[in-house]
Amino acid sequence: MNDCCYNPAEKMLTTDEAIEFLLKRAHVTTLTETVSTLDALDRVLAEPIKSTLNVPPLDNSAMDGYVTRFSDLNSDGETTLTISQRIAAGYVGDKLEAGTAARIFTGAPVPEGADTVIMQEQCQQQEDNVVISGKVKKGDHIRRVGEDIIEGSKVMAIGQKLRPQDLGLIASVGIAEVIVYQKITVAIFSTGDELLMPGEPVEPGKIYNSNRYTLTGLLQKLGCEVIDLGCIKDDLDATVKAMKKAAEQADLIMTTGGVSVGEEDYIKLAIDKLGHVEMWRVAMKPGKPVAFGEVDKTPFIGLPGNPVSVFVTFCLFARGVIRTMQGCSEVLPRKMQVIAGFDWPRKGPRREFVRGQLIVDENGQQHAVTYSSHSSGVLTSTTWAQGLIEIPENTSFEKGTVLNWLDFSELFS
Ligand code: AMP
Ligand code: MG
Repeated sequence: MNDCCYNPAEKMLTTDEAIEFLLKRAHVTTLTETVSTLDALDRVLAEPIKSTLNVPPLDNSAMDGYVTRFSDLNSDGETTLTISQRIAAGYVGDKLEAGTAARIFTGAPVPEGADTVIMQEQCQQQEDNVVISGKVKKGDHIRRVGEDIIEGSKVMAIGQKLRPQDLGLIASVGIAEVIVYQKITVAIFSTGDELLMPGEPVEPGKIYNSNRYTLTGLLQKLGCEVIDLGCIKDDLDATVKAMKKAAEQADLIMTTGGVSVGEEDYIKLAIDKLGHVEMWRVAMKPGKPVAFGEVDKTPFIGLPGNPVSVFVTFCLFARGVIRTMQGCSEVLPRKMQVIAGFDWPRKGPRREFVRGQLIVDENGQQHAVTYSSHSSGVLTSTTWAQGLIEIPENTSFEKGTVLNWLDFSELFS
């Protein structure tokens, strides 16, 4: 592909080629910081986590009940044993003498000499004794030392985006602070003389700027700091100025609109003055024009103007770049498979990302269905949908065909 020239006669890039190209050029931020484990939700680990201890640290009881030696129990009928001690969670008991049992509670360490816990439902206390009945197996109801984590083992890898359960696991090995990558800062602006901000009075020929809101929300969902440079007129000087400002302040620049090759599209002209840009036609629907480049070494992604195209191209292209910059090991969303609940009679040369919902029919079978309009201007399709149905290039099919599904929960995670 030519470095910065848009040639309409040129072959379009496939979606996969565009993703590969973008990911190859994206770099992880080198800056890290130390944060409290409690504040580390959704941050990305910049160092692996190793455990210096076993979890649990000792054999302990999984039940409230009595702990004894299995060999002291009668193989048939009841056993009466003297209660020699009481061990609550957080306290280490004494060595268990033969012929005795200890009252024990969930999480309390199993005393030396004991090997079996009998749940309290099978035990009856009679003054200083306990009468044990029912079936008991040697080793019952004991959580073993190191059953969860072995001392010295790696419990989490670099690049893990921390979920609530990850924070819990890190805390369970006693680690109060973690080293994570710094958040990346993304400067955004929308382009278009037609744009009004919500709150401004309606004007003939104008539309409200929805992309600013969609893009801000998407970036915030991915944990980015957003610098909003507002709305820029379709004017070369104004676009150049905004690009410069963005490059000074951010790790990544993202814009919407102005990436076609019309007379009112200034993104390419502006970046040509400041850095370099490649204008792509990607063989996808919605989306087609997408720009990628650099302004003063700051990477730039120019999304199309149509609101649905912004949403879809962000999910397919920008998300992966951002996840790479953030240091995530899982960069691309996992695709699931769904059964089409619709026919697709017309083959098209571009891969389509149709907004879909999953429904369950009367036989309990799940199907993906599409929104009534596939237009890239109908933003309602994105709020109605739960995910994107991927329809391959040059393919027609009937109801029942298995297709790829990109769930929004996966895209926004
Ligand atoms: P463009 O790529 O600038 O030619 O824009 C393509 C279409 O998207 C046009 O119909 C624009 O009016 C519309 N559009 C561009 N930017 C926005 C925006 N920020 N919010 C809503 N619609 C937009
Ligand atoms: Mg425009």
